[in-house]
Amino acid sequence: ISDLDVSRYRADFPILDRTAASGAKLAFLDNAASTQRPNSVVDAMSDCYRRYYANVHRGIHTLSEESTHAYEQSRKSVAKFIAAPSDRQVIFAGGATAAINTVARTWGDANLGPDDVILLTIAEHHANIVPWHQLAARTGCRVEFLPIDDQFTIADDVVVEALDRLKPKLFAFTAASNTLGTVFPVKRWTALAHDHGATVLVDAAQAAPHAVVDVQDWDIDFLAFSGHKVCGPTGIGVLYGKEPILDAMPPFMGGGGMIHKVTTGGFSCAELPEKFEAGTPPIVEAIGLAAAVEYLADIGLDRIAAHEHRLCQHADDGLRQIDGVDVVGPTPDHKGGIVSFHVDGVHAHDVSQQLDTRGIAVRAGHHCTMPLHHHLKLSATTRASFYFYNTVEEADRLIEAVREVRQKFAPSGRKRRRRSE
Ligand code: PMP
Repeated sequence: ISDLDVSRYRADFPILDRTAASGAKLAFLDNAASTQRPNSVVDAMSDCYRRYYANVHRGIHTLSEESTHAYEQSRKSVAKFIAAPSDRQVIFAGGATAAINTVARTWGDANLGPDDVILLTIAEHHANIVPWHQLAARTGCRVEFLPIDDQFTIADDVVVEALDRLKPKLFAFTAASNTLGTVFPVKRWTALAHDHGATVLVDAAQAAPHAVVDVQDWDIDFLAFSGHKVCGPTGIGVLYGKEPILDAMPPFMGGGGMIHKVTTGGFSCAELPEKFEAGTPPIVEAIGLAAAVEYLADIGLDRIAAHEHRLCQHADDGLRQIDGVDVVGPTPDHKGGIVSFHVDGVHAHDVSQQLDTRGIAVRAGHHCTMPLHHHLKLSATTRASFYFYNTVEEADRLIEAVREVRQKFAPSGRKRRRRSE
């Protein structure tokens, strides 16, 4: 199916060999929620805890210096992973959510006011909606949404029309939808937004695990992604920003580490990136994140994307052929490794539970995209999401299991159809 030696990589993920509660062999197809970690990530983290852990930046002793060195080297690895011009522009945050909230709280509060517009797509994750609603409540600015069309995407002329009409100060959009899988053209939309004077924030939570991220080529102003979706630890994510913008931005959280000087009368800020990293940072998580992005880079993001595309194509084809199953999303050429679907007459939670009895882990619900589901007139979907360690056999098991679930739980439509045949 692709030139990726999946069995070689699967050996790095012992968790993939386990069984589900039912005793069936696990097929982990819930990677859009969170991926698994290879041994190298777990080892890098436990190595730090076992051999050289201490708080960073503050101590002049061996362990602190070694930890600080590893923490700052991790920042360099992440900068390389996203092609950032400088590691000063890589800020470790709690995750994509924390990164976006930081921008809303600082850049947003400083730059938006009544009558200003923030443009989003209807396909955004709540993490790229709610912080802007909160900003609107604080400042009086307005949030507007681009609709998706019946191909589950958004044409460039729709983007241009909205930019012309609304003149947004910020265009914040996801590089890849966590529900539909749709991949949006970041570079093109960024150029269009810049032509209209808008600042661009890209939510790369679903893009960074699967495709090359190049913040300079894309020319975006802000980027956010999460560690746990790129084979890294939970509790860490990245905020990237263009240097002049970050320099001008006021800090968000105050505390230790982010200051240059504190007096009884006030404080002055540290330089980038510490300015945005108040308190003890996620030291070991940063070390784990660096091991993760190095692991992905070693495989090659292009090879990862190609393998997932083929798996997605296979699953998408198979599911579309099942009577009573609708794939909710574009054709595989326009999406990453996500196949969301709706089974007529069966609630998504029941689909997911039935798949679990067969060892197949998928996610059911609104996937934190309630406005999108509302737009699609669906309350919930079932989502299978693939990663480079998944196999064709797992995609086949998914297709077969969905076929069985449809037959078992919603046979009436079939019977009626059979009777009338
Ligand atoms: N944006 C998108 C597109 C996502 O899929 C997610 C995670 N589901 C997030 C943002 C938020 O990521 P986190 O929960 O790790 O902060």
